[in-house]
Amino acid sequence: MRVELLCTGDELVTGLTPDTNSPYLEARLFELGIKVGRVVLVGDVREDITRGLEEAASRSDVVIVSGGLGPTADDFTAECAAAAARVPLVEDAGTLRFLRERAQKRGRELTPNVARMALVPEGSEVVPNPVGSAPLFIVRLGACRLFFLPGVPREYRALVDGEVLPRVRAELERRPERTWRAFRLLRTVGLPESVLDARVAPLAVAHPRVVFGFRTHAPENQLKLMAEAPSQAEADAALASAEAAARAELGLSVYGADQDTYPAVLARRLTEARATLAIAESCTGGLIASQLASVPGASAFLVGSAVVYTERMKTHWAGVPPELLERHGAVSRPVAVALAEGIRASCGTTYGLSVTGVAGPSGGTPEHPVGTVYCALAVEGGPTRCERFSLSGDRELVRLFAASHALELLREHLLTSPASSP
Ligand code: AMP
Ligand code: MG
Repeated sequence: MRVELLCTGDELVTGLTPDTNSPYLEARLFELGIKVGRVVLVGDVREDITRGLEEAASRSDVVIVSGGLGPTADDFTAECAAAAARVPLVEDAGTLRFLRERAQKRGRELTPNVARMALVPEGSEVVPNPVGSAPLFIVRLGACRLFFLPGVPREYRALVDGEVLPRVRAELERRPERTWRAFRLLRTVGLPESVLDARVAPLAVAHPRVVFGFRTHAPENQLKLMAEAPSQAEADAALASAEAAARAELGLSVYGADQDTYPAVLARRLTEARATLAIAESCTGGLIASQLASVPGASAFLVGSAVVYTERMKTHWAGVPPELLERHGAVSRPVAVALAEGIRASCGTTYGLSVTGVAGPSGGTPEHPVGTVYCALAVEGGPTRCERFSLSGDRELVRLFAASHALELLREHLLTSPASSP
């Protein structure tokens, strides 16, 4: 089924308003197995809209049009639809009644410009708008069905979900050639994109019905699996098999799927383990605590976090002995260990997590160049683990990956230590 989108509005072609209606609909249609053939943006120019409608209709089975149905002088999409269909505009009695009642409820008279929203091309199917004034109307032009929706995103989405998609789905089901799809997004941390690609490459060959795609969103790398088949059951089965193979290959690097977020997954594990956490952050400056605090209910495990930027505060708040700082420097393995153990002891938590490093661009030394980061995890009744990382990128990226590596120490511990399993 060929589908095109046409969005009208001067604001869309003058850099004032980005078109967000199309991506919303594209994603919904793609879930149905439809890849939109073309998206056209047109300014508020009658001839351009009319021509745009005719051209899109000549190429498509379905055209979905946004904008220009309101009461203002620049709203004339209904006129253009009537011109393209070569029919007059007529007043829709149901819409007029609805508009009058809506105006009365607000203590207003029905003004002629508002009443104009009841004008639709003769012969169109009119569907009330559940969250606004201008209705959806559907016009046939040759073999093509055109759906006209208000541009206001809230109204557009409500009508897309409630009225347009069910009609498109019904039409699809009448067609034998449709492609069924199933999706999974696997979210990984700790694997560079090239490594992920290399490890997944043999799987792509073994699962020809599944398209393997990659997306980087630092510090994550995501593996997108899309199965295509002649039935939903076959698409689901192909996806399940590829997902199982990918999870087996990537192991603990996969922290979650689809809508999962890293902090939320870690929060769930900590809560399930009834564990508590305290953090001492130097170069990340509170980033770790901020990420964890973004999860509702973080107070179940997050006891406190100290930003110990200076040596004095490393001693004062996390109990790092001054001699240790003097002997090894703030960016060192012994100090990272002392920070994690000190903050855990002072907060009385199950875990203490620390980060100390050189975020750059200045401050590097031959022994500890910019990007050197130590992360440590202190565990109640267990040994402290400390890792050194050599990170590349600018200051922001070094801090982002430092936070990620520190949290990974904790996640790995929660997943692999039998004592902490609930
Ligand atoms: P209209 O239905 O043309 O009167 O549009 C009403 C308002 O909706 C405009 O002023 C824009 O702010 C917004 N709008 C229209 N089209 C779009 C679009 N494609 N994407 C995002 N916002 C839009
Ligand atoms: Mg407009």
